[in-house]
Amino acid sequence: VDPTDQRQALDLDAADPLAGFRGRFVVDDPDLVYLNGNSLGRLPVQVAERLRELVTSDWGGGLARSWERWGDLPTQVGDRLGAGVLDVADGQVVVCDTTTLNLYKCLHAASALAGPGPIVSDRNNFPTDRYVLSGVAAQTGRELVSIDSTSVGPSPEEVATACANGVAIASFSLVDFRSGALLDLSGITEVVHAAGGLVVWDLSHAAGVLPIPLDRCAVEFAVGCTYKYLNAGPGAPAFLYARRDLQSAARQPVWGWFSQRAQFAMADPYDPLPDIRRFLTGTPSILGLAAVDEAVGLVAEAGLEALRAKCVALTGYAMQLADAWLADVGVTVVTPADPDRRAAQVSLRHPRASWLRAELQARGVVVDARPPDILRLGLSPLTTSFAELRAGLDRLRAICVPAGG
Ligand SMILES: *Cc1c(COP(=O)(O)O)cnc(C)c1O
Repeated sequence: VDPTDQRQALDLDAADPLAGFRGRFVVDDPDLVYLNGNSLGRLPVQVAERLRELVTSDWGGGLARSWERWGDLPTQVGDRLGAGVLDVADGQVVVCDTTTLNLYKCLHAASALAGPGPIVSDRNNFPTDRYVLSGVAAQTGRELVSIDSTSVGPSPEEVATACANGVAIASFSLVDFRSGALLDLSGITEVVHAAGGLVVWDLSHAAGVLPIPLDRCAVEFAVGCTYKYLNAGPGAPAFLYARRDLQSAARQPVWGWFSQRAQFAMADPYDPLPDIRRFLTGTPSILGLAAVDEAVGLVAEAGLEALRAKCVALTGYAMQLADAWLADVGVTVVTPADPDRRAAQVSLRHPRASWLRAELQARGVVVDARPPDILRLGLSPLTTSFAELRAGLDRLRAICVPAGG
């Protein structure tokens, strides 16, 4: 079969069990090719409806009386996200704050639980993670060991080597943000545990696109954002997972009143709740939590196995099209060809990546570029269709191949 044939895309869409989910999102320009779900997912119709309802009746009408119903949202939505997205038992996830802040809280909590030794990470880790890691290392007096991984992220063997002289905490992002490579969470967690360390995983580019074996691997802490493949909207609150058996001993560094036992007694001293709520800080974003609640429901309804299968098919199709259409014009695929080593993103390399991004945007194709030479296609399993993906790469080909060429 010729992958570039339009009928191929239509057949793949016709056979896609998740195809119906696209209709549950706001798609008001059918010609727009949106391949940027790794940055900001499309708007689910039921998120828009829930927010409209919340703003007019719960906020506009109920005012402060609504706190009776709002107060437990960080843990309620956390349990819903835990069950549908992370497949973990209740009581281990809260939704609050940002990924950056949640990472900071988890790293400090992990450092207080860990023995002596350095913090191990990856030089290619996401920027906010690198900055928070260097800050926490400085604040805790620990050395930060950064693995010089290739563009596809560190392997368990490289992590084992970095941990050979001891490790307190190892922290990585499950998906490499440049190459789209999926790291081996169980292999890496196993070698860190064997070396006596704790792990803190950032799941931002993985949540909502594949099953993640947090429970089976006894991961200590994990964080991630909700506005990428979880589609909860710009600045929606992030999630934080802390393994149940660690919670009562874990101490996070931001001692706010929402983690205080008997919060409304307003008394001293600070005495944090014994459970996952000790990771809360201040007043939660109720609008953001309601959006996460609805958006996560869609992921749970689709199911992680079906989402994973769609991502493997979408990324595989993108690579076939890139090989057929773009290899001759200097565009190469960076993302690993092995489906087990990729998530929902396909990265292409071209020396003028940011110029290509702008040219694509002018032709109704939204992707993003990362320096120095990476063009990222974020394929969102609930909303990206095979025909949409083909149209995007067809327009990219037209830019790369000058007219008549
Ligand atoms: C998107 C992303 C973040 C975002 O952090 P914010 O605090 O929401 O800005 C953090 N880490 C990784 C790995 C990401 O992909």
